[in-house]
Amino acid sequence: MPRPGPLRVLTGAVVAATLTWLGAWAAGAAEPPVGTPGDTGSGDSYYPAMGNGGYHVAHYDIDLTWRPLGRTVEARTVLTSRATKDLSSFNLELDGMQVESVHVDGAPAAYVRDGAELSVTPAQPVPDGTSFAVRVRYVGTPPVVVAEDGSSTGWIPTADGGTVLAEPTGAMAWFPVNNTPRDKATFDISVSVPNRLKAASNGALVRRDTGPKRTTWHWRERWPMAAYLATVSIGEYQMYRSSMANETSAGMPLLSFVDPRLGRAATARSQLPAVTSFLRRSFGPYPFDTSGMIVDNVRVGYALETQGRPVYPDAPPDWLIAHEMAHQWFGNSVTPRDWRDIWLNEGFATYSEWLWEAEKTGRPGVAQRNFDYYYGAHGAASPYWTLRPGDPGPENMFADQVYERGAMTLHALRTEVGTPAFFEILRAWVAENQHGSASTAEFVELAERVSGRQLDALFEAWLYTPSRPAL
Ligand SMILES: [Zn+2]
Repeated sequence: MPRPGPLRVLTGAVVAATLTWLGAWAAGAAEPPVGTPGDTGSGDSYYPAMGNGGYHVAHYDIDLTWRPLGRTVEARTVLTSRATKDLSSFNLELDGMQVESVHVDGAPAAYVRDGAELSVTPAQPVPDGTSFAVRVRYVGTPPVVVAEDGSSTGWIPTADGGTVLAEPTGAMAWFPVNNTPRDKATFDISVSVPNRLKAASNGALVRRDTGPKRTTWHWRERWPMAAYLATVSIGEYQMYRSSMANETSAGMPLLSFVDPRLGRAATARSQLPAVTSFLRRSFGPYPFDTSGMIVDNVRVGYALETQGRPVYPDAPPDWLIAHEMAHQWFGNSVTPRDWRDIWLNEGFATYSEWLWEAEKTGRPGVAQRNFDYYYGAHGAASPYWTLRPGDPGPENMFADQVYERGAMTLHALRTEVGTPAFFEILRAWVAENQHGSASTAEFVELAERVSGRQLDALFEAWLYTPSRPAL
């Protein structure tokens, strides 16, 4: 409805009616706002089309039925979100599959698909600040999503099922999503599979409903989770239950799922509590309240730190457990706000491998040895040093230098500020940003605040300069 014109041109009866309408409008009781469309991107440096503006998601409720014949899903996802402006329409990302219906607060909504973008126009605009529920029904075969670096992400078919590995943007392969690490939410994930299969996911196993032919597995992640860390993994698993002590419980549940064709992963499962306890002593309390591992023959060439319960393509060695579990603090609890800052994940997880090796072997010089090794292995003229870990580019997000030079950056910081201040910085980083999203600039600022040093030159040299830093 257009704004009413000046009152002076109106006749008496119309003035009375208009004033009545204005009174109701002022009280917020009449017409909803007209609103404007939400942004179709999130402003990410590397994936600007991914993620959307105009709302924040608080909770995803994903309910899917998987059928081995045709490897298809029938799915329903409800997003509970809060509008951050008056919204006439908004976008989600969903790649592939067929959308059957979209409802907003129970009313059918119009929608248009363009590539991975799903644009939704509700029957009524959504007023700024209000909570609203979007229900999307969809069917089809969830796709593999090829990332900018060429790696396979999304829904990865396996011999006996499938596994979701969604970093950086593969979440849109299996549910409609605000596909950015800066919008974290809690999740309920329910998956129905034939009884001979199991369905692993994040967080706590709330319950299992078993019928004559199929079982529905209900999982809940009650801590905020970035969409790329959500997983479901379906297969003929052995399930192993155990527990470990953490800060709040003598028996934090550990639930692991192992493809028996890869063995029992008994050594790896037995190492998880010791590795996790070491990381807690180093960085502060474990950020979640469940853990475990998913071990399956996923032919992608990498493991992923899916929240609480990482996915490994084979029984993992202890250094890889240390890497993926360190991500629970660095990446999962404290998530990069922008994909450009991926070293906040990989540099920290790699440095944690070094710390774990020092702990395991009783040789405190491991980090210095590794620093010296990488520094010397690549001469000053080597192209190795041209890749900047603080801004590697979308095609090099997971290049060796992001891991190695990222870890060297942390070791250079430790050398500069001393070991006590270094760990104080890491603990403060985790404590101040837990369950949120943060940036490299905020890390530099925090490191300077905690250490009382000016550190711009150090981070500039190690993260952003395309040459080997001087020692
Ligand atoms: Zn990693």
